[in-house]
Amino acid sequence: MSLPSNADWLARSQAAVWHPCTQMQHHAQTGSPGHLPLVPIARGEGAWLYDFDGRRYLDGISSWWTNLFGHANPRINAALKAQLDTLEHVMLAGFTHQPVIELSERLSALTGGALGHAFYASDGASATEIALKMSFHYWRNVGRPEKAEFLCLAGSYHGETVGALAVTDVAIFKDAYAPLVRAATVLPSPDFRLAIDGETPADVARRASAALADHLEKHGDRIAALIVEPLVQGAAGMAMYDPEYLRLARQLCDRYGVHLICDEIAVGCGRTGTFFAHEQAVNDGHPIRPDLMCLSKGISGGYLPLSIVLSSDTIYNAFLDDSVARAFLHSHSYTGNALACRAALATLDIFQSDDVLVANQEKSRKIAAALAPLAEHPQVSHLRQRGMIAALDVNTDDPHFSRKFYRAALSREALIRPIGNTVYLMPPYIVSDEEIGLLGTAIMGALSDALHR
Ligand SMILES: *Cc1c(COP(=O)(O)O)cnc(C)c1O
Repeated sequence: MSLPSNADWLARSQAAVWHPCTQMQHHAQTGSPGHLPLVPIARGEGAWLYDFDGRRYLDGISSWWTNLFGHANPRINAALKAQLDTLEHVMLAGFTHQPVIELSERLSALTGGALGHAFYASDGASATEIALKMSFHYWRNVGRPEKAEFLCLAGSYHGETVGALAVTDVAIFKDAYAPLVRAATVLPSPDFRLAIDGETPADVARRASAALADHLEKHGDRIAALIVEPLVQGAAGMAMYDPEYLRLARQLCDRYGVHLICDEIAVGCGRTGTFFAHEQAVNDGHPIRPDLMCLSKGISGGYLPLSIVLSSDTIYNAFLDDSVARAFLHSHSYTGNALACRAALATLDIFQSDDVLVANQEKSRKIAAALAPLAEHPQVSHLRQRGMIAALDVNTDDPHFSRKFYRAALSREALIRPIGNTVYLMPPYIVSDEEIGLLGTAIMGALSDALHR
């Protein structure tokens, strides 16, 4: 029996599957400059994905930033197989189980105990909405119902459900739905590419925090929370900023009684060098802590849909009362799914047993070395890196650049999917030195293919 080929699966997928983040017509336009290939994947192993025609692709962006330790990781697989034979799922209202308890305990410990309770959902956008609702409801419970507005940063991305779009500032995802959305106030981003007159990244951070201070001075009474992506604004095109912004934002939020929500959905789990990105902002010798933190993507190793909102005890305690209405009633059917929690525990085990944060320091140096030659490229600017995320901007006005680059990279065995004109790497942590070299070579080759064709 012969396996179906790529072509068989392509036709069936286009006929039956509505793919995310995609103009479906681009899949059909074979041969045109705007064509977006659709790649049927048969299996994955380590950093590699394999299609049905025997071609392979090095997963340079961790399958949308989710995969930390490779596809079909033997240790995560073994943990999931054991869990499957024990308990696949049980409703979390009125019931609890070992994986959800252990995961909650371990995540709290990773925040030094600052965030004592974990609330569960299935995707990042839901985690954002949960954090916004918790903050809003907290202020209601403590008799400050006028604190009902939210702040976010220019270019922020916190998910695409109608509630999460309120704090997402990416036009292509938001504009069409503006009439449905109760938009938050957008404040200047500390993105260090915005430096003027020789400003350092810390100067840009201080300038952005001055705008935050000004807004809170005038409107702090009405603000429930500020939500940020710590250190790297992913969907904005890997906009990076100095930890000084987080340090100052924490101080300002304390001064004006505003919650700080850290959305670590993309940057958590070691992506930026520390386990949580916010830990790089230090006040009086201690890492700052948010009041609420969202996790998803990497936390399950890239295996299963899982998101978590960690909350401070102050917030948690304000919901304790005889009244049901003062409780946080938000619920999802798959809240605290046992398999997903077990995948997360196996992921945390690997961080511990392999000393991953230390090993990644060497890997991030290798990534820097592989990309260094691109700094000389006449059409490349802002080559930048924070831990295991590296990015560069390509100066071209070709509207098809990102799809041309994507196709060229695929033909060089690399999955690298630019965001607009920003090309970035965010590989799984098991990527080898040789594979890092391959990604660097693929970027250079794909760049010249995309710019000169
Ligand atoms: C991906 C992402 C989200 C949304 O997560 P989904 O699971 O895609 O809904 C939210 N915030 C950030 C920072 C993200 O990168």
